Amino acid sequence: MSTETLSFGVARALAASALRAAGARAEAAHHTAEALARADLDGIASHGLSRVPAYVAQLRAGKVKGDAVPSVTRPAEATVAVDAADGLAYPAIAAALAWAASLLPQRGVIAAGVRNSHHAGALGLFVEDLARTAGAFAIAFTNSPAGIAPAGSGTPLFGTNPIAFACPMTGRDPLVIDLSLSMVARGRIMVAAQKGEPIPEGWATDAAGRPTTDARAALAGAMLPIGGAKGAALVLMVELLTAALTASHAGFEASSFFDDKGGPPRIGQLFLAIRPGAVGADEEAVSARVAAITGRMLAEPGVRLPGDRRLAIRARQRAEGIRYPVALLAELRALAG
Ligand code: NDP
Repeated sequence: MSTETLSFGVARALAASALRAAGARAEAAHHTAEALARADLDGIASHGLSRVPAYVAQLRAGKVKGDAVPSVTRPAEATVAVDAADGLAYPAIAAALAWAASLLPQRGVIAAGVRNSHHAGALGLFVEDLARTAGAFAIAFTNSPAGIAPAGSGTPLFGTNPIAFACPMTGRDPLVIDLSLSMVARGRIMVAAQKGEPIPEGWATDAAGRPTTDARAALAGAMLPIGGAKGAALVLMVELLTAALTASHAGFEASSFFDDKGGPPRIGQLFLAIRPGAVGADEEAVSARVAAITGRMLAEPGVRLPGDRRLAIRARQRAEGIRYPVALLAELRALAG
């Protein structure tokens, strides 16, 4: 595959131009382009600029509203509720996180919900920001269109529903754990189907709910969660924390993030942040415990912290640039006009 290398800033500007040309207002295009380019910088290409053509198609079709302005309400002392108003998720999440960061010093703990929302991309970026700028332990959830079946069924009802966690670490970048609840991303099954290759056992079931290694049969069936029935229970937990708590669409009601068919997905996101010192131990004691726990772990040979692989990719690509497929850049340049 031939590639072209772009700096982070050029990649972000290209994404923003394509989104603006499709009708996204400037702030929405800015936050979206920033998040997608950051995902690419961290090597998460599945949630980077590769998503722009699908966003553009949805903006043009009105499935995502380019002129949506997120509205913020404060239902309680330590909560923030944002209505994304069927727009792109990123400006709504930016509003939620800005409020969370400003309220945390006084409140100590914040819950922020986003409803009528859309694809949130690489979820870890948001908790990392809360850890870095607000010094908080943060956890985030989003639901997504149906792909995973409840334990005992082969019918996909819920999304791959990622969970992201971050906490500050003294003298270095925050620790970030960022994982979806499916064994693998659906994209990997799609690639195997295109190549006519089998998939490993344990990734998916067919339309009848039977385990399958046939990639095409898997696409007609459901993706398997991590950890069997326990993972399926976590998928349900995320669905309830997002779709139920923010009164948004569940996975089985949400339209696809990948095409312009149907109405807005209207899914939900939830962010929780806790400042060290808010629950019993002072900030210094918390930092010392974080260092002791992670330090003991890292004393074991072969062990690294979650998130450190992405940080290494980020540092390298900041210096060397991000490699993009030439075909994707041609498409984005045509969309940017
Ligand atoms: P990965 O499987 O790549 O990684 C999962 C987590 O495990 C990461 O924090 C990773 O750290 C950590 N990890 C993996 N191997 C090790 C190891 N050997 N030692 C220590 N830690 C390790 O992530 P997923 O494929 O599940 O998700 C990829 C991205 O997709 C995420 O950003 C997620 O938010 C996003 N996503 C978004 C969706 C949405 O609807 N918005 C839906 C589904 C996924 P490290 O990265 O450093 O390897």
